[in-house]
Amino acid sequence: MIIPLSLQQSVQYLKGVGPKRAALLHKLEIRTLWDILCHYPREHEDRTKVTPVIKAHPGSTVTLKGLSEGFEIIPVGRNLAIGKVLLKDETGFIWAVWYRRTTPRYDVFANWDKKFAKGSSLWIHGPVERYHHETHVRVDEFELATEKSAIPIHMDRLVPLYPLTEGVDAKGFRELVWQTLQTYTKDIREYLPEPFLEKHRLQHLPEAIRQIHFPDTLAQRDQARRRFAFEEFFFLEMAMAQVRRTRHQNHSALACTPRRTYLTPFRKTLGFEMTNDQKKAVNDIFSDMAQTTPMNRLLQGDVGSGKTVVALSAMLLAVENGQQAVLMAPTEILAEQHFLTLKKFLEGLPLQWALFSRHLTAAQRRRQIQDLEEGRISLAIGTHALLEEDIRFKKLGLVIVDEQHRFGVRQRAILQRKAPNPHVLIMTATPIPRTLALTLYGDLSVSTIRELPPGRPVLTTHWTLEENAFAAVRREVEAGRQAFIVSPLVEESEKMDLNAAVAEWERLRTTVFSQHEVGLIHGRMKPGEKERIMTLFTDNKINILAATPVVEVGIDIPNATIMVILNAERYGLAQLHQLRGRVGRGRFASSCYLVADPKSNDAVRRLKILCETTDGFRIAEEDLQLRGPGEFLGEAQHGLPPFKVGNLVKDIDLIQEARQAAFSLYESDPECRTTEHLFFQKETARRFSGKLGLGQVS
Ligand code: ADP
Ligand code: MG
Repeated sequence: MIIPLSLQQSVQYLKGVGPKRAALLHKLEIRTLWDILCHYPREHEDRTKVTPVIKAHPGSTVTLKGLSEGFEIIPVGRNLAIGKVLLKDETGFIWAVWYRRTTPRYDVFANWDKKFAKGSSLWIHGPVERYHHETHVRVDEFELATEKSAIPIHMDRLVPLYPLTEGVDAKGFRELVWQTLQTYTKDIREYLPEPFLEKHRLQHLPEAIRQIHFPDTLAQRDQARRRFAFEEFFFLEMAMAQVRRTRHQNHSALACTPRRTYLTPFRKTLGFEMTNDQKKAVNDIFSDMAQTTPMNRLLQGDVGSGKTVVALSAMLLAVENGQQAVLMAPTEILAEQHFLTLKKFLEGLPLQWALFSRHLTAAQRRRQIQDLEEGRISLAIGTHALLEEDIRFKKLGLVIVDEQHRFGVRQRAILQRKAPNPHVLIMTATPIPRTLALTLYGDLSVSTIRELPPGRPVLTTHWTLEENAFAAVRREVEAGRQAFIVSPLVEESEKMDLNAAVAEWERLRTTVFSQHEVGLIHGRMKPGEKERIMTLFTDNKINILAATPVVEVGIDIPNATIMVILNAERYGLAQLHQLRGRVGRGRFASSCYLVADPKSNDAVRRLKILCETTDGFRIAEEDLQLRGPGEFLGEAQHGLPPFKVGNLVKDIDLIQEARQAAFSLYESDPECRTTEHLFFQKETARRFSGKLGLGQVS
């Protein structure tokens, strides 16, 4: 789009804006007049109804209109003064009051007696209060109605409220927007093609800008928002469509076809049949990998749904085709767990795999790196740190990333340096709600495992008191099962809590659970010690494992049937769901006890949802509603531009329409020959070039 020259001028062109005010506006990223118009209100306050003075009841917030009966100042102590105007309308009188600090400026009410001289006509807006038998309005905002041409800006309308910064007052800013609109609206030209606007029922730009600031009705305001949101989504989806097209034109990946060298023996050692969803996922992946276009697929499925087996199949396919594969996990423990799984299923196959663990000696590590570089190691497992380090592959054909939401745009870029075009599979146990998947990963294909392997026991969740939870633990342990007790203490960073937590577990061990073996594991333990404890727990030498949320991922103890989560109110929904996925992995019915003291409605809602459902998809949707998309994926990592108007939760229909529009443009005109497509492509480049993996397009 082309911003009119007049609107590219500095804000200092406005009346009342000097260098000082301009500097304050810079803090809001506002430099030009156009920036002012693009600083949208966060909401509107309805001041269209004028209340007769006689109906101004304490406890309500009102807009009044009347005549001043004069102004007076009442000093209150040394630092405070009250300015008062007696306001009169046909129904009566009421005091309008302003409280002002008189230090450091003592003349805060200078000239107010002129401003509010008897007979001047004014609006006031604010809460009605009753104080010492006097009813008054504490003035939030006022506006004099005496100026000649005056249409009120701040009253008698839906009044915009802006996100502002200290030093920029609401009323002053509103006046700047008003001034800009009055003077420059005529310069604003629509730049989107008319048929496009019509097709998607979008307001015209000049109208939309006016309506988003000073709407005639709320419905008009919503129409204006819809236009801007649609624009945001549409160009983002255009970028997605473009990325996808570029990828589809890339044929540098290696096509892999099943050769049965490893896959067949692997299937035999599995000892179970894959579920239909698993088979479907494997098929999806295999048909992606049969192409020379690099795979870019997300595999989502709840904890325990059997993603690892699917991932292994993909890895073996790559290896059968002379490639190397790497599997990366977000934590060391999870990487170790994957390693153990690999060992279980691959033992006996004539191929080498290696864990790049923190605990390797320098010499071991050097040798592994060399084996990898020279292609002797076919499968490498490690944390995401594998990306950062100076590790090279001979022929990397497949990259699998576990726990997608911790895998950002930056890592992707680094990955490109290890191998130009590997197939990429991303796994997540935190299902991504449909909206987010569409928006964030317009370019990603998705396979979903919904069905759990057969014979999974029920998992019930209760929100209860600590003593009930501990009693349940005792019952399970006495029946020969094992328990997790999760407390949020002793994170890597919380040094001071360590002693307290250890003391607390000492107490539990010697009192409540004195009959049982209690082990403690936390993030600040030495790796060797951690392993020792885990082995004891695996062998049922420890009955109760007191743990910090390090158990979140990767621990597979089929005999563990009960988990107690203390201070459950401190966790997010997705995290609680992940945590409880550690139990119910064997053949016994299992339970999770949430001990919590929620302080907010949201926290209560989280706990209730967990007790209600074990459906990870429903939980993901709820989590998105509760926390918003930024929280969900880690703001900095998802690499998306922030939406100014669009809302990923509320605007799902709009997103879909925008996506449909963008993608069908590429379908109907893949070579970008039409003027319309060319225009949209240029605008997309202007907005996103260098971001989202888009090339620099001029
Ligand atoms: P995820 O990675 O999705 O959390 P895993 O792949 O670790 O799940 O699988 C959980 C457990 O279920 C593992 O012990 C795995 O061997 C087992 N498993 C996976 N698929 C099946 C299946 N189709 N039938 C029986 N057990 C399975
Ligand atoms: Mg897993």
